[in-house]
Amino acid sequence: MFQNQNEPQHFYDNKEDVINLFGSKVFNYTVMRKRLPKHIYKAMVDTVLKDLPLDENVAEVVASAMKDWAMEYGVTHFSHWFQPMTGITAEKHEAFISPTTEGKVIMEFSGKELIKGESDASSFPSGGLRATFEARGYTAWDPTSFAFIKGTTLCIPTTFVSFSGEILDKKTPLLRSDKSLSKEAVRILHLFGKTDVKKVNTNVGAEQEYFLIDRNDFKKRKDLTLTGRTLFGNRPPKGQEKDDHYYGRIRGRVHSFMCDLDRELWQLGIPSKTRHNESAPAQHELAPVYTNTNMATDNNQLIMEYMQKVAARHNFACLLHEKPFQGINGSGKHNNWSMTTNTGENLLNPGDTLQDNLQFLTFVTAFVEAVDRYPEMLRCTIATAGNDMRLGGSEAPPAILSIFLGEQLTAALESLETGAPIHAVSDLIMDLGIEAVPSFKIDNNDRNRTSPMAFTGNKFEFRMLGSNQSIAGPNIALNTMVAQVLREFADQLEGADNFEKALRRVLKNSIRNHKRVIFNGNNYTEHWLQEARKRGLPNLKSTPEAFANYCLDKNILLFENHNIYTGPELMARQEIHLSDYSETITIEARTMLTIAKREILPAALAYSQDIATGYAQKKMAGLEALTAIEDRLIQKLSQDCDELVADIDRLEMTLSENKDIANSQNRANHCHDTVIPAMKALRLVADRLESYVASRHWPFPIYEDILYYI
Ligand code: ADP
Ligand code: MG
Repeated sequence: MFQNQNEPQHFYDNKEDVINLFGSKVFNYTVMRKRLPKHIYKAMVDTVLKDLPLDENVAEVVASAMKDWAMEYGVTHFSHWFQPMTGITAEKHEAFISPTTEGKVIMEFSGKELIKGESDASSFPSGGLRATFEARGYTAWDPTSFAFIKGTTLCIPTTFVSFSGEILDKKTPLLRSDKSLSKEAVRILHLFGKTDVKKVNTNVGAEQEYFLIDRNDFKKRKDLTLTGRTLFGNRPPKGQEKDDHYYGRIRGRVHSFMCDLDRELWQLGIPSKTRHNESAPAQHELAPVYTNTNMATDNNQLIMEYMQKVAARHNFACLLHEKPFQGINGSGKHNNWSMTTNTGENLLNPGDTLQDNLQFLTFVTAFVEAVDRYPEMLRCTIATAGNDMRLGGSEAPPAILSIFLGEQLTAALESLETGAPIHAVSDLIMDLGIEAVPSFKIDNNDRNRTSPMAFTGNKFEFRMLGSNQSIAGPNIALNTMVAQVLREFADQLEGADNFEKALRRVLKNSIRNHKRVIFNGNNYTEHWLQEARKRGLPNLKSTPEAFANYCLDKNILLFENHNIYTGPELMARQEIHLSDYSETITIEARTMLTIAKREILPAALAYSQDIATGYAQKKMAGLEALTAIEDRLIQKLSQDCDELVADIDRLEMTLSENKDIANSQNRANHCHDTVIPAMKALRLVADRLESYVASRHWPFPIYEDILYYI
């Protein structure tokens, strides 16, 4: 119905339609209030708001209500929906049916089934944590994220752990890190006299970039179908130099897709809010309204999944790879992070009073210190083979972690450090001295698009994430790092005779020791690379280099101290990420080989054959003197084909070397140092062939066919 529509579709008749649609496939509080007995509903709310454990009797009633509700939507199955280390989600559907002695069935869903599931964990990455003989894994209901309906299945968000309790997923550590941050932030707030605060939540709004291309083109390219990116291809004559795509008019077919996607997401209670064209041709962005980090993480997974599903329905392919096209901007994800109290206060919002300003500056300082102390870990959380192709390429920040605070906030921190009044910053109404000047206005327009971590008025925007990744990892790290610094602050402040004096001392020290991570200039310049080196900030350029720093003592200590990961669990994760890197590269290399051998070489030879035929005809007609072009082309083709074959051989050799490397770090290093250069060499000659082999011989659509016609 949506296919090939040139005009935007009209979906809704009135505002009620959208309001009724929103969240209609979610077992949210509205549904719970309507369908659960009062005391059960209250128990559910308390579980979430007060972190109270959930009773089995409650689960029994909830399960039954969930099933009845879901069946009204034609649902027949339920599934624990979890987030293993693959980076995507996993589900195994079970029908509600239960046979009766009369040869019929009844529909059942018990509290036990809701709370706990058992599954074979052996086929999920564990990083060697779990021997196959103890391959059982357990999924456990996460009542803090709503159950929802996908197709004919009721999906229950769950955690995933091994039989012996090791964590095998991304949700468990995320929930733990949130709890830890809450605990430490509450300690600080109590010191500020806010004893009514019981809990602090982290929030995330994740902006998601993606490409849409025609599915027919997608199917014709093995590199896209197998690896999600093009492994061959020249930059088209027209790229993004005219900036005519960013925020440009959204074409009809894309608009229909976006409306259809929003509709799906809204039904799932995902507040998809912003949609626009991005800077590269065929590139777009979606941003939802922010929500608590746990839900935002679940939602982002669903957003990525539905982007691909809905795309297929519109005969598009949605590319989520970080760098689908060489020479054209890739896709990232911006992770907007903030903290709010259960009383509704955003801790990264500058306040109206001196007291609130000091509190605000305490949290900002803690954040700055955290990033400066754990930059390697943060770097690792966004390190993937795909993202390596994007970072530092004048389209995304370099691999150096630094923070943009803007002039005014930087001046405020400097003044806390030196005790001197703030000067030279226009319209900063603030005084950190004794005389309280009430307001502190931060100019939010001061935007720096090149910073990997920017303060943007009331949140920090982490801009290094790859488009394809789960946002769990970066937020686990952020939460835990900040929790650690807040814990140290609180340890020094609790019991101090004069809180404010002690606080100023703590902040002063923290700023002095960690201000080197603050950088307000252009992160894309060579100057910054040199400056960062001088400041001693790590620049871990590639994924293998980053993961060599994953299990640093300070990182193990950090996660152990907050009961997020044990040392062995962290090492297992290192193993998983490194293997994933190597697997990605080797799959890409093998795909290149297939395409080069079975498609590109034959195309070049066929073209050569064509020319040779023309040459022979001319010769027979006595036009031998007019064959200079044919001569040259045949020679050139023959040289390039020789080179292509030599590069194929070389890449094959590096792959067979790579296969024999047992240590995952060494294998990843070898991929980076040897396999990737061999892939680049092969691409170079193949792309040269693409540039002059007649288009009727070229075996698949090239960039300009793909990027400009939807
Ligand atoms: P940009 O100019 O980078 O697109 P926006 O103001 O549109 O920035 O916000 C981008 C994302 O940040 C959205 O998902 C939005 O909901 C989210 N966001 C806004 N305020 C907060 C906050 N306090 N905490 C977390 N995320 C937020
Ligand atoms: Mg942004």
